[in-house]
Amino acid sequence: MADCSSIRSFKDAADYTKNFIIQTEIDKYLPGGKHFIDEGLINRLIEEIDARPADPVRVREIIAKSESTCETLLPEETAELMRVTDPALFEEMRAAAARIKLKVYDNRIVMFAPLYMSNLCVNGCRYCGFREGNELQKRRVLTMDELKQEVDVLAGRIGHKRLIAVYGEHPTTSTEYIAETIETCYNRKVPAPKTGALNGIRRVNVNAAPLPVADLRVLRSVGIGTFQVFQETYNRKLYEQMHPSWSVKGNYDWRTTCFHRCLEAGVDDVGFGVLYGLCDWRFELLATIMHARDLERWFNIGPHTLSFPRLEPASGTRVPEESPWLIDDDTFRRILVIARLSVPYTGMIVTARESPASRNKALDCGMTQLDCSSNIAIKGYSDFENEAHQEKERQQFMLGDNRSIEEMVRYLADRGTITSFCTAGYRCGRTGGCIMDALKTGREGKFCKINAVLTFREWLDDFAKDPATMAAGEALIQKELAGIKDWVPKFYPSVMKQYEATCRGERDLFF
Ligand code: SAM
Ligand code: SF4
Repeated sequence: MADCSSIRSFKDAADYTKNFIIQTEIDKYLPGGKHFIDEGLINRLIEEIDARPADPVRVREIIAKSESTCETLLPEETAELMRVTDPALFEEMRAAAARIKLKVYDNRIVMFAPLYMSNLCVNGCRYCGFREGNELQKRRVLTMDELKQEVDVLAGRIGHKRLIAVYGEHPTTSTEYIAETIETCYNRKVPAPKTGALNGIRRVNVNAAPLPVADLRVLRSVGIGTFQVFQETYNRKLYEQMHPSWSVKGNYDWRTTCFHRCLEAGVDDVGFGVLYGLCDWRFELLATIMHARDLERWFNIGPHTLSFPRLEPASGTRVPEESPWLIDDDTFRRILVIARLSVPYTGMIVTARESPASRNKALDCGMTQLDCSSNIAIKGYSDFENEAHQEKERQQFMLGDNRSIEEMVRYLADRGTITSFCTAGYRCGRTGGCIMDALKTGREGKFCKINAVLTFREWLDDFAKDPATMAAGEALIQKELAGIKDWVPKFYPSVMKQYEATCRGERDLFF
């Protein structure tokens, strides 16, 4: 059990809303009251984008810088990429984005699943079905017994090892609850259907509201993976329109300084995101760069991941349909490519909110992580036999890509991409600043190749149902092993030792 004695508790939702934010923990990271999101500069850059066409020579210089240094670009450089309208020049950018992905993350895609824990919320976000006062939502919070049932399906039937646990913001689902759910996930072990080998969740990432430093330290103590908080929009005025001032989430500065507090608390894998469709995407991406650069300035660590949620229809609100800034599929692709070039070292997540066609295209634009066999209804995994089943009243929005994990594994294998269930990084201390260097130099990608092979072997032997999946997976593994032999001949015998042990049924071996 986590030691929660250092964190505050609140008697009810009103008390929480009034007293949760700690102003000194904001002020510390906005010295002199100056915010690191420089809206004046962003607006100027956007005006200039519209004023002249891209300079191809400059664009190619920026691509080359991104590819060779893997350092975050300057906002001015990202703005130059945003000028590109010529399809041939954009294709050069896309190809570079794909090469950078390969250099940093190799030919693998990391697999995860979302797990919604609760939809109780004290906030009033105008675009979200979970918002306070929305009578159409059926509210519930998973009990620990219900959570175990969810994990049994996720780890025991589908074969997931990595979760993103999602929470509304409410005193009922306080940090203590979040810590208990993380521990419950880690402690549950379930026999796999084909081999009976014990499987479990090995990394729990969290998507929740911003927390104070003391609370983040508690989550660190129970082994949280990435802490993900989506900014929704960096445009302060729009942010204030979307998030009522009476709500905790209405405080823009509390949310924008959240990752600074994470890194102070030692939670050093942080996941950025913007809710695309609320504001001009160029504003959001330029602000994302500024946010990343400020974290790098303070801590020498930037975003572990960027997520790209798009506004989806939700119960009891018309905002997702009526926003003037909704983006089409081509723009979505542009965003991915420019993001990959602008923050070359970061992981990029495109979730099952997107359609299959959109996700297939995203694979060519530098994406590194996706979810499959996803169910975002609370207690959805254990209540519905059919993995693709969705129910509007029970979930935040409807998913676009209902492909099963097995379909996706095969699709990826046919493209020569290995599905990785690896969670070794944070368990070997390859997080934060340590992983930043490994990513920028391409070292992490190679480590991950080995761990991808070991975990893919586990998944195939434990969960793959169709002989065609086994055959495609087997061929890919042999190719990967040959690649590892070429890359590190001296190390190869140790890799094979672990690989053969995995084939014999040993589990969770990693480098
Ligand atoms: N309650 C926490 C918060 O808001 O930070 C975390 C959980 S919230 C369910 C996770 C994310 O869902 C939000 O950050 C937001 O970006 C996204 N979201 C909310 N409404 C959405 C909608 N209509 N379409 C797509 N994503 C939405
Ligand atoms: Fe609550 Fe998060 Fe939904 Fe806002 S986005 S209403 S904070 S669950």
